[in-house]
Amino acid sequence: MTVLHDLELLQKVIHSLSDHIAVLDSQGCIVFTNQAWNRFGAENRCCRESGWEGVNYLEACEDAARTGDEFGKHAAFGIAKVIRGEECFQLEYPCHSPSEKRWFLMNVVGVEHERSRYVAISHVNITLRKLAEEHAYNLSLTDGLTGLFNRRHFDNFLSDEWRRCARLGLPLTVAMIDIDHFKLLNDTYGHQYGDQCLIKVAGVLNRHARRPSDICARYGGEEFVLAFGNSTAAMVRRQLEKLIEEIRCLQLPNANAPTAGTVTVSIGVSTQYPRSGTKESVAVGEADAALYKAKEGGRNRIEFLN
Ligand code: GH3
Ligand code: MG
Ligand code: MG
Repeated sequence: MTVLHDLELLQKVIHSLSDHIAVLDSQGCIVFTNQAWNRFGAENRCCRESGWEGVNYLEACEDAARTGDEFGKHAAFGIAKVIRGEECFQLEYPCHSPSEKRWFLMNVVGVEHERSRYVAISHVNITLRKLAEEHAYNLSLTDGLTGLFNRRHFDNFLSDEWRRCARLGLPLTVAMIDIDHFKLLNDTYGHQYGDQCLIKVAGVLNRHARRPSDICARYGGEEFVLAFGNSTAAMVRRQLEKLIEEIRCLQLPNANAPTAGTVTVSIGVSTQYPRSGTKESVAVGEADAALYKAKEGGRNRIEFLN
């Protein structure tokens, strides 16, 4: 085995790496930076006139922490631990520029040299992985056909909103929406037309989830759900009547449907005052029961329970 003793070659290697590398002494002061570190600093205007050497990186992280930067706080904590003897520390953090999203992984390792403690820090750009993760996460929340939130996300959202309303003593209203005679529509015009109708209906419904405490989701098949936190049925009645009218106005043909010659929806609505220890499935169950009544009552209508 050949042992590399050529210091100049080692320096060239470190300067040619794309990771941003710095070495700190036991006080947290920078004693070395590679070219990638310097370049990034210059491009992001976080470099000092006199260069990086002597800058106390640990203090810079602590300063950031004092302004409320959570990542600065974690970084300062981790670096201090490695200075005190811990082997290593890692932190993933966002570092977005005005024009692009960026994330980095900070690796901190302790190095003993001539009875002194040093800390080597490298920042690795992990933006591609983070963007892929973000994309996969967004896909996991949405329905592929309509682009609405999917059932999984709805369940999680409703569970959170239920507990929030229980804590604050607020009402919560759930509306289940089902397209009338949709099987007939598919049988008459084919599934592709059926899919187009689902997309158009979804577009109308989605405009009715306006507040952060509202959600519109595809519940499954030709069923959709709207939930309104901090709202009673009386507060959303007008809106839902408007919604049913907007669907009629789409004028999507469903010629063989006995209700109307166009696509219509039936809506079942339930309002609950959540209490801690109760489950949000009550609201969905009751809205479903109201929907059943709307269907029984002739479809193309709204039925309220409670
Ligand atoms: P009702 O008025 O009682 O609601 O009758 P309906 O025909 O709408 O209800 P039913 O449950 O009998 O049929 C629902 C149909 O929805 C059957 C199914 O093939 C269709 N469907 C479910 N998901 C999709 C989809 O993603 N695309 C299309 N084109 N059709 C779908
Ligand atoms: Mg239906
Ligand atoms: Mg249905």
